[in-house]
Amino acid sequence: MAKDSVCGMDANPAIKAVHKGKPYYFCNASCKETFLKNPEKFSSRG
Ligand SMILES: [Zn+2]
Repeated sequence: MAKDSVCGMDANPAIKAVHKGKPYYFCNASCKETFLKNPEKFSSRG
């Protein structure tokens, strides 16, 4: 199960964003919005 890169909770597979060809999953749309505003910050966490 993927983790939400923004808040660290278990992610919902239905809420997905792709950054530099990699998929990222989020617990809710708000976390996805936060990620998309600053994807470099969150994607660097691994
Ligand atoms: Zn979240």
